[in-house]
This record gives sequence, C-alpha cells and structure tokens, in this order.
Amino acid sequence: MPALPVREFNIQFNATSKVLQKFVAKKANNNTQWWHTGPIMCPQEDWLFIFKSLNYHCVYCLKALDSSTEELITAKLDHIIPPMHFTQDDSPDHEQNLVPCCCLCAAIKQGITIDIRSDRLHLWSTRKAYLARLREIIKEIKDQVKVDTMQYVDASIHYPWDDSPEYADFVD
Ligand SMILES: [Zn+2]
Repeated sequence: MPALPVREFNIQFNATSKVLQKFVAKKANNNTQWWHTGPIMCPQEDWLFIFKSLNYHCVYCLKALDSSTEELITAKLDHIIPPMHFTQDDSPDHEQNLVPCCCLCAAIKQGITIDIRSDRLHLWSTRKAYLARLREIIKEIKDQVKVDTMQYVDASIHYPWDDSPEYADFVD
C-alpha cells in the first residue's frame, strides 16, 4: 500500500518528541492549555462518565457508539493529546484530554498530533479548534485509504477486456 499522506500533522516523532513534550508540558498560569484542564480521571473507572458526557458519540467521526454492542465494546477512550507527549510529571488523564472514540478512528489517529509550527499554533489554542482539525485529518486519511485500497484492488483484478480489444468500447 502507498504511504499515507503526511502534511501538517506529525506521525514521525523521533526528531521532535522532546520539543513537543516541552510544548505540551504544564506551564503555570497558562489558561490556554485545555489538555491540563479538569480533574484527573482514572480511565479504567471513569470512562463511562466521559462516554456519557459526549452522549456516546465518537468525537472524531460523530458515529453513535451505542448503535450496536459491537460498536460499544470496541469503542475506545482516547487521549486527544497522546500520553507519549506528556512528561512523567504531567498527567495525560485530565478530563478535557479524554474523549470517546470508535475503534476505526482510534486506529487511524494513533500517534497523530497537530504540528506545532507557528502557522498551526492557533489549532492548539482551544480544544474545539484542535478537535475540529483532527476530525478533518482523520477524514482525509480515511478517504485516502479508500482511494489507495481501490487502486490496489483494481490492480489485482484481471478484466476480460485486458486481453480482448473488442471490449475496449466499454471502457474509457
Ligand atoms: Zn469514529
């Protein structure tokens, strides 16, 4: 499969992980750090509270997570800013950093963080802006995977008109 597009989001962290950690780390008197806002939750025990607070919807694709048992048992509690970007002194489990998420979005989003280049910083300023951009990114990746998969499937199928010129009128 072709590689997924990497644009303003960051999938390779090796080069920037320290910089990102420093950016994510808690700063005193900074109210814009929504990922450090709200009580520290216990994901194993408080997931139900988080699911209820978003009315059992995937925060990324807005799918209803209580539409089937399968959907509900495969749903995940997601850290909007992944725990790997928090230092040991900071908890990634603040209420505002936790959201319900379907298993497909969780698989796609894994490790994705919006870039901290200056022209992207406004996307970090509010939880709403950050989530809105993540929604777009996840949708972009889903659409790209669909296109890539169709090309892959198409390339593996042998059609009758591949060998018979008389079928050429039926295809462009
Ligand atoms: Zn979803």
